[in-house]
Amino acid sequence: MPTALITGVTGQDGAYLTQLLLQQGYRVVGVMRRSASSDVIGERLRWLGIRDAVELVDANLTDLSSLLRVVQAARPDEVYNLAAQSFVATSWQQPLLTGNVTGLGAANMLEAVRLMHPSARFYQASSSEMFGLATTPEQDESTPFYPRSPYAAAKLYAHWMTINYRESFGLHASSGILFNHEGPLRGIEFVTRKVTDGVARIKLGLARELRLGNLEATRDWGHARDYVRAMHAMLQQDVADDYVIATGRTTSIRRLCQIAFGYAGLDWEEHVVVDHALVRPAEVHVLLGNAAKATRVLGWTPTVTLEDMVAEMVEADLARHRSRLVG
Ligand code: GDP
Repeated sequence: MPTALITGVTGQDGAYLTQLLLQQGYRVVGVMRRSASSDVIGERLRWLGIRDAVELVDANLTDLSSLLRVVQAARPDEVYNLAAQSFVATSWQQPLLTGNVTGLGAANMLEAVRLMHPSARFYQASSSEMFGLATTPEQDESTPFYPRSPYAAAKLYAHWMTINYRESFGLHASSGILFNHEGPLRGIEFVTRKVTDGVARIKLGLARELRLGNLEATRDWGHARDYVRAMHAMLQQDVADDYVIATGRTTSIRRLCQIAFGYAGLDWEEHVVVDHALVRPAEVHVLLGNAAKATRVLGWTPTVTLEDMVAEMVEADLARHRSRLVG
């Protein structure tokens, strides 16, 4: 039975990846940081009905010795580094914490693997935000990076450290440059979930308006369930490498609102209010990925359309709010 060690196991991708690996017969060890709210932190794993199938261990990406101990004890075949301060807007408020966790945290994890168990295969969760002020209409593995936030700068450091450990120490370390990926387990602060949650509240009469920032930005949005398949596929290759994972379609926030409100039979223009306080200090205007390499080498393609994903998310948020109303 292969063992996978996942940091960020309580996040959206951690939950879906755990589900996929359990289905494939893995033993999954999840790294959880200690916190006073630990009892609610496993909510996404619980939602998928897999909370008790994961071994949760205490460690923190900012504490190398805790990672050394965890890697030594678990002796994983595969390590997935998904943990991060992952919200772009917060990274301007907490730039140093973001650098410590999202950037140096990845370096700590690479060190733990190199020192304790260098035969483990390593996956780094890189991000399309690294392209930032993109210099080409479509972004692939050869597109230059231009990070536009402390988050993106930290992710870029982690990305290059992953490549550096591959080239310097021969680690089987791969980096997935994932474009935005969403689903009903997405954190409420991200725009897709904020919109679908807003639609559900308005539909149920719990709210009248939804405040958003820049509606003109466009993103290449896929479903997280599809994207964790790509992470796993990368670690099954003989040779470690970097891959862009994307749908190849970009959609504005405005259009997203139209789709989500429309699904619930609502007119988005009657409810969405632009709040300039939510506009970011520097914006990533357009992201559009080209995942041809992943399709060619990994045989990976996305299966869920934006419309179907938004429908799933609105339904899940309606169900959540309805159950709270009843309870
Ligand atoms: P990101 O691509 O990782 O930053 O994912 P987000 O979902 O946080 O943001 C996607 C885009 O939506 C960005 O261009 C934001 O500026 C834009 N946006 C507009 N209004 C909002 C909002 O109220 N919340 C968030 N999170 N993003 C918003």
